[in-house]
Amino acid sequence: MAKKLSVALDAPIQWPKCCARCGADTDLTVAGVSIGSMSGIAPRLDGLAITSTMVSLKYPVCRAHAGGLGLAGFVTRRTAGLSFLRGFSYFVGVLGVAIFAVMAARAVGLAPRNNLPTPWPFLAIFAGGIAASAYFIHAMRTLPVRLVGQSRETVTIRFANDAFAADFYARNRRNLRDVPWWKKFIF
Ligand SMILES: [Zn+2]
Repeated sequence: MAKKLSVALDAPIQWPKCCARCGADTDLTVAGVSIGSMSGIAPRLDGLAITSTMVSLKYPVCRAHAGGLGLAGFVTRRTAGLSFLRGFSYFVGVLGVAIFAVMAARAVGLAPRNNLPTPWPFLAIFAGGIAASAYFIHAMRTLPVRLVGQSRETVTIRFANDAFAADFYARNRRNLRDVPWWKKFIF
């Protein structure tokens, strides 16, 4: 069970001096993670004023575990457009799994065959949905640090490594806030 901590943003965050994934303390670099939401759009004389609350943090990670974190961090962002993209991919992916299950059943004779031509372009879309969903889930599981919630003053961080989370807790004890109970259920 991954640990979640809410930390106040008005004080600098003290990161443990080791990799957020494996705990190694040599050959460290940094990875970025962000969360953001659009809080308002207002018409103005010269266009639209868009206000957003974007929080970006940089955490330590060893070079061995730094690869691929940029893309994984981006696609798992809790931002409206990306949440929609993820939801759409899951939808297409689940449909795709069902379709391929039927095809497999037909191939082995468990389900009746029909003589319609195979719709390859559609199958490609469903295969893409399955691949994208698998990647999103993989990215969510492998990211050592994710931002899973924010308020005006705090950001909620999910740690994959318990020892790293405990070290973070000790260093930032005074700036930690209670995690709202309902956020504990968001993975
Ligand atoms: Zn590492």
